[in-house]
Amino acid sequence: MNDRQAYGVFGNPIGHSKSPLIHAAFAAQCGQAIDYRPLLAPLDGFADSVAAFVAGGGRGANVTVPFKEEAYRLATRLTARAERAGAVNTLVFDGQAILGDNTDGAGLLRDLTLNLTYPLAGRRILLLGAGGAARGVLAPLLDAAPDVLTIANRTATRARGLAHDFAAHGTVVGGGYDELAGQSFDLVINATAASLGGELPPLPGGVFHAGSLAYDMMYGQGDTPFLAFARRQGAARLADGLGMLVEQAAEAFRVWRGVHPDTAPVIAMLRNSGPDGDPAR
Ligand code: NDP
Repeated sequence: MNDRQAYGVFGNPIGHSKSPLIHAAFAAQCGQAIDYRPLLAPLDGFADSVAAFVAGGGRGANVTVPFKEEAYRLATRLTARAERAGAVNTLVFDGQAILGDNTDGAGLLRDLTLNLTYPLAGRRILLLGAGGAARGVLAPLLDAAPDVLTIANRTATRARGLAHDFAAHGTVVGGGYDELAGQSFDLVINATAASLGGELPPLPGGVFHAGSLAYDMMYGQGDTPFLAFARRQGAARLADGLGMLVEQAAEAFRVWRGVHPDTAPVIAMLRNSGPDGDPAR
């Protein structure tokens, strides 16, 4: 046993997660004595794996695919942002109590507004996808007061449902990709899993204009199909999700340790660390 406090990331698979590298860098930078490791949970054994980790002294954990919804149900208390997201990516253990939080939205917002210096107020935003990632970022995006936020999804009813659920936060509409014809947007965020399979969401031409920012939550070496399409369509700026990955981790680190690390050197380290673009974290 060492005296470092135990943290980790639950997922399946989890072997290629960058989170241990990120949190080790944060810990070194902030002088925090933590031990953070990948925690492979069986697909039908998430709750048991969490219980065993807590029994062994675990203080907190991140949660990634496919356990975010299960973590939401497992938590005994939720932050407001986790409640809104319907998913949990950060757990804090305190005796029998489990606090569930969600830092994905804060991570995206920090990457867009601080790292990319892209103000969101008054912008026309298009969000692609209606899964967990889209749901997690909707409230913070709307709270930033865009002109309009449009959600497009392969299964149009899911996008319409999300728009309905978040209507109280701002002007938001949802529908299918065919409904985008003739519209252009300042910011287009790909929150679909299409890039994972090397696919492009069925976007009509014209959604980008010469000043648009194209943002793919997926990250890796080179352009994703979405970013390649945006480039061909003349989008002014392209960004992948590596900054969001590091920012959501920094926000989790703050929740656990009360100190927000400097993310810029960690993003730079990962950019220079090689061709591994595995989206697991
Ligand atoms: P989900 O499985 O919950 O949702 C997947 C979404 O993608 C659904 O809306 C689905 O549409 C859509 N989709 C899947 N395949 C295609 C396709 N070929 N064409 C068009 N739409 C498609 O996944 P998550 O929301 O959890 O994650 C989405 C992405 O975001 C992943 O790539 C993930 O790695 C990334 N992510 C990145 C983070 C970061 O920190 N950078 C944080 C969180 C997520 P339908 O409803 O029709 O099935």
